Amino acid sequence: MPAARVVAVAPDSPAASTGIRPGDEILTLNGEAVRDVIRYQLQADEPVVELEIRRGGLEQLAVVEKPAGAPLGLELDSPVFDRVQTCDNHCPFCFIHQLPKGMRRSLYLQDDDYRLSFLYGNFTTLTRFTEADLERVVSEKLSPLYVSIHATDPDVRSRLLRNRRGATSLRWLAALLDAGVEVHGQIVVCPGINDGAVLDDTLLGVLDRFPQLATVGVVPLGVSAYTSEPDMREHSRAIASAVLDIVERWQRRFRETLGRRLVFAADEYYVIAARSFPVAEDYEGFPQHENGIGMARAFEADVRAVLAGEPAAGVGPRAGFFAWVEGAPADGYRAPRQRAAPNAARRAVRGSGRVTIVTGEYGGQALAPLLPVLRAALRAPLRLLIVRNRFFGGNIAVTGLLTGRDVSDALASEPVGDRYLLPDVVLSRDRFLDGFAVTDLSRPVEVVPTDGASLVAALRGDAPDEDA
Ligand code: SF4
Repeated sequence: MPAARVVAVAPDSPAASTGIRPGDEILTLNGEAVRDVIRYQLQADEPVVELEIRRGGLEQLAVVEKPAGAPLGLELDSPVFDRVQTCDNHCPFCFIHQLPKGMRRSLYLQDDDYRLSFLYGNFTTLTRFTEADLERVVSEKLSPLYVSIHATDPDVRSRLLRNRRGATSLRWLAALLDAGVEVHGQIVVCPGINDGAVLDDTLLGVLDRFPQLATVGVVPLGVSAYTSEPDMREHSRAIASAVLDIVERWQRRFRETLGRRLVFAADEYYVIAARSFPVAEDYEGFPQHENGIGMARAFEADVRAVLAGEPAAGVGPRAGFFAWVEGAPADGYRAPRQRAAPNAARRAVRGSGRVTIVTGEYGGQALAPLLPVLRAALRAPLRLLIVRNRFFGGNIAVTGLLTGRDVSDALASEPVGDRYLLPDVVLSRDRFLDGFAVTDLSRPVEVVPTDGASLVAALRGDAPDEDA
């Protein structure tokens, strides 16, 4: 039987008053074995919750009475208490296959679980999806979901997933859409395999078979120095431009036929192709912001709004479903980035009065045009420290994949007296991907949430005096 292990009990919570303790295992809630936090939440919302608990091998009952909808006050060790459904694919572009050995185990987990798609926004290929899963998604209204499409041609899709079930599993996408589930799709483009005419054909397939899709994100594959796949190559400027041309052509077609753009290209494409990002309105509300689509424009819009005294749109990274599910274990890539509140971030030693924003190569290209605006508005001596990703090598240039070792090495040759601002997108539970803690870095840094409003607030809070 699956069991959820309690890792923390909120003081003065309904659960605390019944004596539930960290280490206890929850076997059932109101007589139902709980497989995941989705079921847990439904039962925990009841005004009377009967918990069957195992402690030290002995089972006992605890009954909690509380207002309906009030949290029990438990933090649990995992979002899924049975087993995370792992993927049965072998995608040649899989980034997990390109991780060096020796990183923390959770990073190697190849999940393909619709529940994590709902909870975290992870993309699922649906190759292991079943009729029972469909029933549950529909009956429990688990929406939105995120589906990896890659190609609508069955042969190309099964080749990309290296799984013959890839040829047929998009039938589940059609079933989900028919049932009214909101679904966002993704196409990871691998040059020579699903770009060019294949990408064109895929978007035609979307229009023809899946027009109810909320959005489709087109993202380039990442190629690290650890890939063992000779056919996986980086996007050249010409390839990125060609992909953008196709996406923009299809945006026009989708607007004519559906009244919305539906397909959006990742920010990386505009950087690689050396083209300007689309204007903020063209992202239609930034529905795939967390997939790296529109981040640069959303960031800029927030910076400009806050500097003008207007409220920020607040399209920063979202905490997702776990923002409200009590007990957010979340060891995946959407785990809470900082345990401490942002304003409790460590303050650097004051010295030069200069402020340095630490960022990756792509982040640098998005931030550079904003520097004059920020300098003028805040009268702050401001610069960027662009850190190259030596850990992964290859074409990995997004800020979120920077490791502590690379950041620390880059900081080591920088002046001691600067304020260094580090975006929290590099952290998961206060740690970098390589396990480095912020406190291990060679210079003290202040961790700032990765959104324009937070950057302005950090700069304003400590912007040095004009005459200082
Ligand atoms: S489905 Fe995802 S996790 Fe599985 S092999 Fe493909 S890219 Fe990797």
